[in-house]
Amino acid sequence: MSLLNVADLVVDHRTPGRPAVRAVAGASLTVAAGEVVGLVGESGCGKSTLARAVCGLVPAAGGAVAFEDRPVTRLGLRRRDPALTRIQMVFQDPYASLNPRRRVGAQIGDGLAAAGDRATTPGEMLERVGLPGGMAERYPHEFSGGQRQRIAIARALAARPSLLIGDEPISALDASAQAQVATLMRNLAVESGAGLLFISHDLSVVRLIADRIAVMYLGKIVETGPTARVWAEPRHPYTQALLRAIPEPDGLGRLPEELPGDVPDPADPPQGCRFHPRCPVAMDVCAEREPAFGPVACWLHPPA
Ligand code: SF4
Ligand code: MG
Repeated sequence: MSLLNVADLVVDHRTPGRPAVRAVAGASLTVAAGEVVGLVGESGCGKSTLARAVCGLVPAAGGAVAFEDRPVTRLGLRRRDPALTRIQMVFQDPYASLNPRRRVGAQIGDGLAAAGDRATTPGEMLERVGLPGGMAERYPHEFSGGQRQRIAIARALAARPSLLIGDEPISALDASAQAQVATLMRNLAVESGAGLLFISHDLSVVRLIADRIAVMYLGKIVETGPTARVWAEPRHPYTQALLRAIPEPDGLGRLPEELPGDVPDPADPPQGCRFHPRCPVAMDVCAEREPAFGPVACWLHPPA
């Protein structure tokens, strides 16, 4: 059984009186049980929209999402399947996902109830994410940002998901908490046998926790591969530019390079390779024909 299989997914954003924006423009991605996949790309590239389609929160305009071999969306919105409680999401802003008026223990208890778990207490779930169990009686505002994100993770895991999705779960945290929370999410997902789709614009953190990396640009996955290979030997010129934009940890070495040019308007994407207006090694073919193949969608890396 495959855990998550996203095949050629297309998702349109529709705003009245405006042309539809193709936020996800034919993206394919898999996550296996126990696997950690990092999905990276600049903000606005469609990462969150892809995640929302996986949860059945937005309809697909094309392609398919299968979770545990069952269709989540297929050419239009289907009713939310109860099996989808086995997909749990952790969002960027834990304030937005935690109810400020309810004790955190009660909120974690909702997840336990959803999973039919009467044996585990909310306090035990707090301990699993590194917080004292006695804090279950407190309210969200009594915690720091990093602690609140731990609580959101505890609540998500309480529902016993087989797929955990983190949508920029560390972007709002202090640098010191970022790696800790990312590693915690990874460890807890893997321990429980769940797959983890970890979405971030920060390749340097994804690199610490992901088995595989998928790089997204303007609605498409442009490169996928094992983390060590992508980090050491990025093949797509966009992945190479993302890596050059990361500051050296010691602050010496080379200076980070800004990504060239601006992200094009997703309502009017470039013909051919969508990266060609920003690509330092673009060729004539790049402006004419789209490299619609994987695992590296670039005319310099045609499939074998
Ligand atoms: Fe650059 Fe061409 Fe490859 Fe696109 S297909 S990334 S423009 S070389
Ligand atoms: Mg986003």
